Amino acid sequence: MAIDDKTLEAILNEFPAKVKRSRKKHILIKNSDAGPQEIEANTRTIPGIMTNRGCAFAGCKGVVLGPLKDMVHIVHGPIGCAYYSWMTRRNKAKSEDPKKNFLSYCVSTDMQESDIVFGGEKKLARMIDDVVEIFNPNAITISATCPVGLIGDDINTVARLAREKHGINITAYTCEGYKGVSQSAGHHIANNGLMENIIGQGELEEPPAKYTINILGEYNIGGDSWEVERVLKEIGYHVQAVMTGNGSYEDLKNAHIAQLNLVQCHRSINYIASMLETKYGTPWLKVNFIGIRATIESLRNMAQYFGDEALIKKTEEVIEKELMEIEPQLEPYKKICQGKTTFCFVGGSRGHHYQGLYGELGIKTVLAGYEFAHRDDYEGREVIPNIKPDADSKNIPDLHVLPDENRYRLKIPAERMEELKKKIPLSYYAGMNTTMQDGSIIVDDLNHYETEEFIRILKPDIFSSGIKDKYIPHKMGIPSKQLHNYDYSGPYAGFRGAVNFARDVSMSFITPAWNFIVPPWKDKPLLEGSIEQCSEGVCPVDDDKK
Ligand code: SF4
Repeated sequence: MAIDDKTLEAILNEFPAKVKRSRKKHILIKNSDAGPQEIEANTRTIPGIMTNRGCAFAGCKGVVLGPLKDMVHIVHGPIGCAYYSWMTRRNKAKSEDPKKNFLSYCVSTDMQESDIVFGGEKKLARMIDDVVEIFNPNAITISATCPVGLIGDDINTVARLAREKHGINITAYTCEGYKGVSQSAGHHIANNGLMENIIGQGELEEPPAKYTINILGEYNIGGDSWEVERVLKEIGYHVQAVMTGNGSYEDLKNAHIAQLNLVQCHRSINYIASMLETKYGTPWLKVNFIGIRATIESLRNMAQYFGDEALIKKTEEVIEKELMEIEPQLEPYKKICQGKTTFCFVGGSRGHHYQGLYGELGIKTVLAGYEFAHRDDYEGREVIPNIKPDADSKNIPDLHVLPDENRYRLKIPAERMEELKKKIPLSYYAGMNTTMQDGSIIVDDLNHYETEEFIRILKPDIFSSGIKDKYIPHKMGIPSKQLHNYDYSGPYAGFRGAVNFARDVSMSFITPAWNFIVPPWKDKPLLEGSIEQCSEGVCPVDDDKK
């Protein structure tokens, strides 16, 4: 069953009128004939609504800073905030020096009531001393949680004094949870901090290899970036830095020397991509290494950017070799998946990225959306000038960088760049709306009630979820695939990752576990009706029976 305007109206009618008016702007039924469809996004969730979003601190420390392996990331705040930033993302990391991989630690000042009353700066300074003594990290970050902002601890001064004392890079991030409408604000704060304090501090002036690239917005969940890097290295690329999965302070310092930046997750890292272009002249290319067709297209676009015949030839050879390896493995899974449907509601870009891979397995995406996207993630970057800044977005300062006097250089001639922009997505992301099929539902900040209603009506065979919403479909007898941390599996990126994903999704479909859960629509009538002309105590039907 599809959802039309009338059904959507009926779902929204359960909300109070004001809430309904707001939610209506966050939901679209895709209709190509209607031209570009506007959606509201990146606005505050209405109090009382069960959202799947996280806070700004989660976006800053949990998503962007956390995966940097040779740094210790101090959470300045009560232990509860720290707990939820620890290992929930399954960012994997290997370090050449095993003593410089701190990803398995959760370091927090564990603020108590007395710290809230008398201030936590001294405790933070003592913690930095301890961290340096115990771990000897290459650098330290300090992330503030809500109470720190409320009591006014000056974490920037603590960081500056500690930097002078210990002689290593120690920087503070004022990413209190309340700073924005979702974790997206924290991504922006982290992007600004990395750009200001780390990127460009290295000494390299020239790329160390012919095709030197950075991968931005790739967090190595379940080993994704290792699989992508395996293929890129085979083709002949040198990956200078990954931001930030399996990333390191040492690599990040020299990220300015790359000739091209790849952007995987547009939402969380597009700020750095744009700033690197302005400051060092490094173009960025939107890529997607989730799905076989998307991976092939990304590899071909990269080769086209460099325009080297040998590289183009090698790219095709590697693609052919990889396809020969995976296609026979995929066949049995495609038979299981064919004809199924899915919801694809994830945090940022994954809600879009996975639709292609699902399609390759024969699974249709009937509903998709993002937890914390902005309008450009749905409608494409051309809408950015039309997005009105509100109080929340003004809360996060835009970092205005200028071309670096010594290091800015055009990586390719301006004319060629303009030509390439017509062919490949350089400095551009088209957004989710462009690729969704007519009649499918696009929802921003999907909530608990809407999840249940859409599942009840559309009955997807699988639900691709975030962390908090995973168990709603389970309770309704629908398998769900958690696409923030992959449910302890992965990698899902690249060629081999596609096989892993197909295997896991197929297992979800055929597991007998679902036979023990009866979805509500299997034992409840789907149609509800009433008998007309009945009034209290008088019913024509009852009369007929007499
Ligand atoms: S919203 Fe504030 S208190 Fe809650 S987890 Fe985020 S930083 Fe901590």
